[in-house]
This record gives sequence, C-alpha cells and structure tokens, in this order.
Amino acid sequence: MVRAASMWIGHEQVEARSGQTLPVEDPATEEVLATVPRAGPEDVAAAVAAARRAQPAWRRLPAPEKARLLHEVAARLRAASHDLADTLTAEGGKPRVENADELEWVTACFDYYAQVGRHARGTSIPPGFEHQVNFTVKEPFGVVAAIAPFNYPLLLMAWKVAPALAAGNTVVIKPAEETPLATLACARAFEALPPGVVSIVTGTGPEAGEPLVAHPDVDMIAFTGSTETGKRIMRLAADGLKKLNLETSGIDPFIVCEDADVDLAARAAVWARYLNAGQVCTSAKRIYVVEQVAERFVERMVELTRALVVGDPRRPDTDVGPLISREALARVQAALERAVGEGARLLTGGERPAGLARGHFIAPAVLDHVRHGSSPTQEEIFGPVAAIVRVKDVDEAIARANDSRYGLGATIITTSLRHALRAMDEVKAGTFWVNDPLTDNEAGPFGGMRQSGIGRELGEEGLDAFREPKHVHIDYVQERKPYWFPYAARDRGT
Ligand code: NAD
Repeated sequence: MVRAASMWIGHEQVEARSGQTLPVEDPATEEVLATVPRAGPEDVAAAVAAARRAQPAWRRLPAPEKARLLHEVAARLRAASHDLADTLTAEGGKPRVENADELEWVTACFDYYAQVGRHARGTSIPPGFEHQVNFTVKEPFGVVAAIAPFNYPLLLMAWKVAPALAAGNTVVIKPAEETPLATLACARAFEALPPGVVSIVTGTGPEAGEPLVAHPDVDMIAFTGSTETGKRIMRLAADGLKKLNLETSGIDPFIVCEDADVDLAARAAVWARYLNAGQVCTSAKRIYVVEQVAERFVERMVELTRALVVGDPRRPDTDVGPLISREALARVQAALERAVGEGARLLTGGERPAGLARGHFIAPAVLDHVRHGSSPTQEEIFGPVAAIVRVKDVDEAIARANDSRYGLGATIITTSLRHALRAMDEVKAGTFWVNDPLTDNEAGPFGGMRQSGIGRELGEEGLDAFREPKHVHIDYVQERKPYWFPYAARDRGT
C-alpha cells in the first residue's frame, strides 16, 4: 500500500489545503513509494508565518542553549540514521553505502555549526574620535527559505539549516519533489527545537518554491540546484531585494598531467565521474588528459568503468544506481547521442545494463576524443558520462578548463608542484582538489565562481552567509560635536 506522508509546519503534521498530493517514485523499481502533499501558496504562507512567529525568541536564545539544541538535533539524526539512509536509498536511488556516508556528513554538519555558532565572535574597530567605541554585531536575516535538490537531499539541507539556525534565523525547508521523504522524516529530529523554528513544505518548484521565494516575510533564500532555477529565483527575489546564497550547476574540469600515475588518475576519475550515477554538482564532467599519457589513461578508464556494478542501490556491492527519473535518463541518452553526433567516440556504456528490465538505469559511458567546445564541455550532463578531451600539455588543459561559464570545482592529478600550484592559481573554481577529487570538509567553504553560484556554504563563511553585520558607534560622552550644524557661523546662539 502506498504511504501518505504529511508536511510538517509548526510541529504539526499537515496536508495541502487543496488536498492534492504528489507521488514519490523509487527510481530503481519505478514503483510509487508514497505520496506527499502538493503545497500551494496558502500552505507556504502558513509555514512562513510559523517561522516568523518563532524567530524573535529563537534569535534571543542564549548561544550555549542554541548549541545544545543543535547537538540534540545531530544526536537524533544519528539515532535515526539507519532508517534515514534506507529512505534516501528508496527515493533517490543512490547506493545505500553512500547514503550512510551522507548521514555522517549531515550529523557532523549540525555538530559543527553548534560549535561554530557557540564560539563565533565579532570585531572591535578602532574609533575615529575620542571617547568613542566601535564594534560589530552580527544579526540573523530572519526567516530563511532552504531549497534543496534531489541528489543529496539531507546533506544540502543540513548545509543550510544548521548554519541558518546557529545564526539565529528560523527556516522553511522545501525539498526536491523527487526526494521529500527523508527530509520529512527529519521532523522527528527537529522536534527538539521550539515549534516553527523549522518547518517543511513539499511540492513542485513553481507551485511551492516560487511562493516561498516571493513571500514578503522570507528574508533570505538559500538554494542549491540548477543554474537555470537559480536565475529564476534571483529574478523573483529582486523585488524584495532579498539576500541570496545560490549553489548551482558545474561542469568541473579534471586535469591529468603527463607525470600522473595513470592507474591512480583513472581510478580517481571513475570515482569522481560516476559517484551517485554522475549526479553530483562537482562530478568530473570534463576530463583533460595530456596526450603523452592519454592512450594508457583511456584504456584503464574503460576497464575500470566496465567493472562497475550497476544495479539495485540497496545491495552493498552496487557501485552505481539508477538516475533519478525517466526524464533524467532521456536527457542523458539525448546528450550522449548529441556528443557522438559531434564527433566524440563512445568507447563503452550508454545502454540499459543487462538484467535490469525496470528502473532508470544506464551503463556508465566513456566518450573519447571529445572536442573542447562541443556540447559535453559546455552543457552539464547530470549522469554517468565521462567526456575525455585530449590536450597537448598542462598549459592547454588550464586554458580549456577556464573556458567555461561555470566555476564550481576543479581537480588536478599530478605530483608536480609547478603544475599543481599554477593550476590552483589560475583555474576559476570554488574548490580545487589535488589528487583527491570531491572530498569536502565542513570546516572549509564550498561554493561556485562564475555561474556556479553566489556565496559559500560550510566553514565560517557558511555561518556568515546567514547573518549580516551591524556596525555600532557609541560616544560615551554626551556633548555637542564640532562637526554638527551649523557650519557657517560656529555659534549663532541657537
Ligand atoms: P532544480 O534546479 O531542478 O531543483 C532544485 C530545487 O529547486 C528543487 O527543490 C525544486 O523543486 C526547486 N525549484 C525548481 N524550480 C523552482 C522555482 N521556479 N522556484 C523555486 N524553487 C524551484 O535542480 P535538481 O535537478 O534538483 O538538481 C540538479 C542540479 O543541481 C544540477 O544542475 C547540479 O549541478 C545542481 N547542484 C548544485 C550543487 C552545488 O552545491 N553547487 C549541489 C547539488 C546539485
């Protein structure tokens, strides 16, 4: 029987006022797992009102108490992590082992911001005049809309909610329509917080996301998703001049230098391209290989790609699960066809894997001799397609890497200090990895340059993303200042 999940507003389980629901599908079996409320503007308004009511008291809660509650959320999530990983696997199709990892990162994020919020300090500023004191205090924006994508539903929720709460905001979460169930299941953990501090609304981008972004009582929007949606959100937010943090698409370069250990480089590329079936914002989407090692690299990459186990994400030996939806699979197939039409050589993959009659599966693909400037180097393929571009040297690789509208992450495989530091210095990317792609650290900032985003999540920057400084100027002697009016005659007797 299909389960009917509810939304969660002000600690209450609620349905959409319209009574409408949306199905949530298991992408590995194509079965409907559950339905969730299909929220509209009225439901969104109720969640925003709850957040607005809760915000003043939450802001005033002393820092040690906020920290205690955020640690409590982390502890509850940790206690529920087995079930949450199962739910993530069922609705998202990511291998369970990766979802168990995701839960560890999620709890680490809440613990981290409990500490960072507790220990955050301001600045004192040298005053410009005698008997004055200047300093800054950092204030929360108020109500934050946290809009998450399908590929890491809880992690990318945590990157927003934990720092937003630590900074004193209250939050309305809108998960992706494909993956709302694990987020709704987090309500049990958020019950540790006062009602309204966190609410969760479910629904589509246009029907629930847009009214949330446009709501006059939402002060700040923290969004992860595609660049196209990010631009739409920016336009909607412009009328209220709302604060924005946008984490958007990427077509990350991965550079294999002539000195690279070819086996290690191929293993790193396979991991960085096919993790989560290639549905990672920082996947290695453009692989620039120096000609000298290209033949050996491509051969090894194909061998390793063919050895990947594609299938049921619940099985512990599965490396690659399905894509999120039928539409996503069709998009990836079309992108592959287009790349081949543009002259790329498909060396392996692209077909439905044998023995998998149902589910949105595709065998991981390797495209060789991709021409820089052709579609895989220009348009994000959100699926398991490795696009290999052969280059004559590292200088060309760096130039090609930078020839992009995007700037999310970048990787270089080398032991040459010159290559590594030169690329670090020149490649436009919010994260730069040497020999170990995709590894994040909650204490280090994450985000994109160019059209890969605005602002940063994680680290102390990730806390500052959810608050703004107020400069305080105090003169502790109450006297008329020589620089006040009137200017012309210093004393007119007035
Ligand atoms: P998406 O943009 O389609 O959806 C993301 C979220 O935005 C969902 O919750 C969706 O319902 C909501 N949304 C859609 N239209 C909206 C609108 N008009 N107003 C308000 N909300 C709206 O993205 P997706 O398909 O879920 O995720 C894949 C994309 O996300 C890829 O491009 C990927 O690179 C990017 N991504 C970026 C990062 C990062 O940190 N930079 C991380 C993960 C994914």
